[in-house]
Amino acid sequence: MTVRSIINAKGQDVLTIMPDAPLREAARLLAENRIGAIVVVDGSRRVVGILSERDVVRVVGLDGPERLEDTVDTVMTHKVVTCDGSETVHQVMEKMTAGRFRHIPVVTAGRLVGIISIGDVVKHRVAEMERESHAMREYIMST
Ligand code: AMP
Repeated sequence: MTVRSIINAKGQDVLTIMPDAPLREAARLLAENRIGAIVVVDGSRRVVGILSERDVVRVVGLDGPERLEDTVDTVMTHKVVTCDGSETVHQVMEKMTAGRFRHIPVVTAGRLVGIISIGDVVKHRVAEMERESHAMREYIMST
């Protein structure tokens, strides 16, 4: 199963924010949309960072709520690991495990076309395993 099939099923909607926006705005978007990460893009919609709820909790927990007035680019992760639509769910799982993060923006020909979370990966992997076990049961019953 490919990343493209997940994006086709869930849609291309990706919540984005500009690097000079205040952290308070990013936290509000994360809370209102009930999501765990937001992709940071520049004026040409190029991916320049990613900010997850963990980043917000880290700085507010360590430095206090005044950090919410700082800009997103002072807190975000700058070196973003992305994936392409042609990659498999297995490859994405490996990237998440190696990088210890739960979100991967999907970029095709330099354009942001979606985001995959660990929840999407687990959901599709479970569905795949159910299909495999169903096929196995059918095979055993027919022999
Ligand atoms: P998460 O597990 O996605 O909440 O993120 C944990 C940490 O990894 C945070 O510091 C994020 O900014 C960072 N992070 C999340 N996704 C990525 C990614 N695709 N590439 C690089 N860093 C990431």
